[in-house]
Amino acid sequence: MSAGSGVEAGGMREASGEKPTDAVSSTGTEAGIPASEAPADFAGQPNLSDYLVGNYRWFHAHPELSYGEVRTTARIRALLEANGIETLDSGLRTGLVAIVRGEASESGDGRDGRRGRDRHPVIAIRGDIDALPLAEDTGLPYASRTAGVMHACGHDVNLSVALGAAILLQRRRTSLNGDVKVVFQPAEEVRADAQHPTGAVAVLRTGVLDDVEVFLGTHDTDALDVGTIGISPDGVSGSVDKFRIDVTGRGTHAAHPDKGVNPVVVLSSIVGALQSIPSQSVDPTHPRVLTVTHIEAGETWNVIPSDGFVEGTVRTADVEDRSLIEATLRRVSTCIAEAFGASADVAWTASSPSVVNDPQWVPVAREAASAEGLAVAPSPATLGGEDFSYYLQDGRPGLFAHVGVTSRDFPAHVVHSPRFAPDPAAILPGARFLARMAEEVLMRLR
Ligand SMILES: [Zn+2]
Ligand SMILES: [Zn+2]
Repeated sequence: MSAGSGVEAGGMREASGEKPTDAVSSTGTEAGIPASEAPADFAGQPNLSDYLVGNYRWFHAHPELSYGEVRTTARIRALLEANGIETLDSGLRTGLVAIVRGEASESGDGRDGRRGRDRHPVIAIRGDIDALPLAEDTGLPYASRTAGVMHACGHDVNLSVALGAAILLQRRRTSLNGDVKVVFQPAEEVRADAQHPTGAVAVLRTGVLDDVEVFLGTHDTDALDVGTIGISPDGVSGSVDKFRIDVTGRGTHAAHPDKGVNPVVVLSSIVGALQSIPSQSVDPTHPRVLTVTHIEAGETWNVIPSDGFVEGTVRTADVEDRSLIEATLRRVSTCIAEAFGASADVAWTASSPSVVNDPQWVPVAREAASAEGLAVAPSPATLGGEDFSYYLQDGRPGLFAHVGVTSRDFPAHVVHSPRFAPDPAAILPGARFLARMAEEVLMRLR
């Protein structure tokens, strides 16, 4: 579809681009941001998109870093309460989990005509809420008011999509065939280790999602236009692993390298050999990348140091490639060091795995998008990380889709760029897709 075109459905036509009006607060606004900290009820508002966009602008103007999303959480909670949506007691310090309780199965009038109390399945939809340590350079009237912090990944879009879906589902709960837990997840952007988990792991550890059968999530993308939903049949993000190789040699005078073992030479050989792992060890049709980003050894020009290190990251789409590359990297590093008379100590820190969509739900997602009058395209190919993958571990199925946010007025800038500026007109289409998808999944699970 053409960039900048509007999206029409449900009797509402949403023009792309910024509007000067704000339908959320009658008490006055600044740069389209609701003036009051206390969000207004949607009831009686003329337009759900205006409501979501007005609140989106507030979230965009008030970004908070991972695990510091205190005001963000408070506002989401207030918005949910104002719309009659229950919040669960998860114990999370930031982020929260709400629930829309479907009433169709309890009243026994399921869409398939079955009577009586059927299964009451529980699924989850997830939007992340944290921002990045980045100075915004968009010039938008609702740009970040916190120096050095910006919603540069569009998690303000993602949470607004989830909020909109929750409101739509709450309004249609009498025909909803189960419960939908709505996860407003903190701390997606942290690169975690065992001691410091990402937000998805933190939410899972609360146990509040233990009964969830299917997980659904969306992320904004500048690669697709407003009104387009990105859906891919399999992998939609890369696994994220960090490696560090410490090499210990033997320091000596630069004029007598024969008296020691130079770790600079050893590290150089290791870096060169690492480049052959993704090209020689992995199925050439599989996406993967090994990137060396940091190397340190020595202090000056005439002393051979005793040690040094190199570090970088490995991204893969396939879980077997991931372990194959780790094993090969360990072997190559230690054998090269040994060949030089040095030793290598390899640390491998596994972060989020790749997000792989469940094939059962891919056609359902496509149908849900089409039913809402939205275009469907493949998700953008990337080996970037996404901690939604933790929800899908241990065989739990799910689907992760992308919401197009580019238009004529909001041209594409890649996420994590200081100029990333999604078109807020994308929020309602994303919410409509997510709500419809949740309904379709529950209907099939019942
Ligand atoms: Zn990001
Ligand atoms: Zn993100």
